[in-house]
Amino acid sequence: MTLLPPAPAPTGALLLLPTPAPRLADHVARLGPVPLPAADAVLDVVRAGGLRGRGGAWRSTAAKMDAVRARAARARAARPGRAPLVAANAAEGEPASGKDAALATASPHLVLDGLQLAARAVGAEHAVVHGHPGPALDALAAAAAERAPHDPVPVRLVAVPRAYVAGQETAVARAAEGGPALPRPRPRDGAPAEVAGAPALVLNVETLARLALTVRGLPAPGPLVTVSAPDLPPRALELRPGARVRDALAAADADLPGRTRAVLVGGYAGTWLTADAALDRELSPEGLAPVGASPGAGVLLAATTGTCVLATTAAVVRYLADSSARQCGPCWRGLPHLAGLVEELAAGRGGPEGLARLREAVGLVVGRGACAHPDGAASTVASALAAVPDDVAAHLAGRCAEVRP
Ligand code: SF4
Repeated sequence: MTLLPPAPAPTGALLLLPTPAPRLADHVARLGPVPLPAADAVLDVVRAGGLRGRGGAWRSTAAKMDAVRARAARARAARPGRAPLVAANAAEGEPASGKDAALATASPHLVLDGLQLAARAVGAEHAVVHGHPGPALDALAAAAAERAPHDPVPVRLVAVPRAYVAGQETAVARAAEGGPALPRPRPRDGAPAEVAGAPALVLNVETLARLALTVRGLPAPGPLVTVSAPDLPPRALELRPGARVRDALAAADADLPGRTRAVLVGGYAGTWLTADAALDRELSPEGLAPVGASPGAGVLLAATTGTCVLATTAAVVRYLADSSARQCGPCWRGLPHLAGLVEELAAGRGGPEGLARLREAVGLVVGRGACAHPDGAASTVASALAAVPDDVAAHLAGRCAEVRP
C-alpha cells in the first residue's frame, strides 16, 4: 500500500506519528527512557489506563496479560522453565489499513518500548516482531538492532508473506514456532494463543506504542486511522481525542465528508453505515456501538458520490474469499459462493431470488469457520444490504443509480 505522508493532528504534537522518524537518541530525547517497573506495576498501569487492543478486536490488554500470566503459571507448574512469549504484531493484512505501517516506520522505538514492557508484565524471556517484508519491518529491525545491547528481552524478527489472515493471533503464534502464518482453530474464549506449549501475548504495534506512552504517564493519543476513498489514496492520520468520523474524513481531504454517501467502518470485515449514520459518531467502540459498528483496526473506507456500494462490497467479499486459508469448508467454499451472489446483485442480475439466496448464504457462513474470517465477510454483506436499501431495490430492477465501482 502506498500511503500519503501522515497529516498533522488538528491540535497538539503527534505522539504516535512524529516526523522525522526518530533514532533511539531522538526518541529518548523526545520522550525519555522507557521506565521498566515491576511486572505488577506495569499491569496496574495498563488496567488503570483501560488500554485495549488496536488490531481490531479492542480486547482489554490487562485481561490478555492476566490470561497469559495465569496460563504461564500452570505451564511452569507442569514443566518448569517454560516462559511465555510476547509478540509485536505488525502484520497489517487489511488492504484498506496502513496506520500500523505508518506508526512502525515513524515510531519503531515506541513500539519496541511497549514490547519490553509487555514482556515485563507477563515474565516473558523472549520476544518476536511479526510482520510482512517492507519498510515497517525494516524500521523495526533497525531499531531492534540499535537497542539490542540495552533491552532486557531479546527480540527476533519473523517475516511472513503478505496475507489477510497472517495477522490473526493464532497465525502469529504458529509463525513464531516456524510454521505457516495461518490461523489455528480459535482458542476458547479468553484463552491465549500458544507457542510450543507456552502462552503467547500477541499485541498489535499500536497497542504496544500506546502501552509505552501510558507507562510514561503521557496522555492517551486520539485515534490512529487509515482513511481512503475511490479517488483518494489511503492516508494514515493521528487525530485528536474524541474525534468523529467526520473529522477523520475531513483530515484526509477537506471536502470528503460532503461527498461521502456511505462509509465502510472497521475495514473489509467491517460495517457499512450511511453518511448520515456515521459522520457525527465518535471514532470509538462506544461512539459507534449504537449504530452497530466498531472502529476495528481504525479503517474508514468512504464510498463517495458515484460509487456503487454493492459493487464495492462485491470486490471486498471476493478479496476475502480469495484470502481464505482454505482450512474450513464453510470458509473456502462458502465465501466464493457468497462473493458470486453479491457480484450477481451488483451487476443487476439475480433478482429477488438471488437476493434471498444471498441472505441465506450470509447466515450459512457466520460462526462456521475455525477463525472469524467468514464472520467478517458476512458482516460486510449484511450491513451493505441494510445500509443502502434503495440501492438494493435499484439493482433488483436491473440498474444502478451510481456509476463507478
Ligand atoms: S475460517 Fe477460513 S481463514 Fe479461518 S481458519 Fe478456516 S479456512 Fe482459514
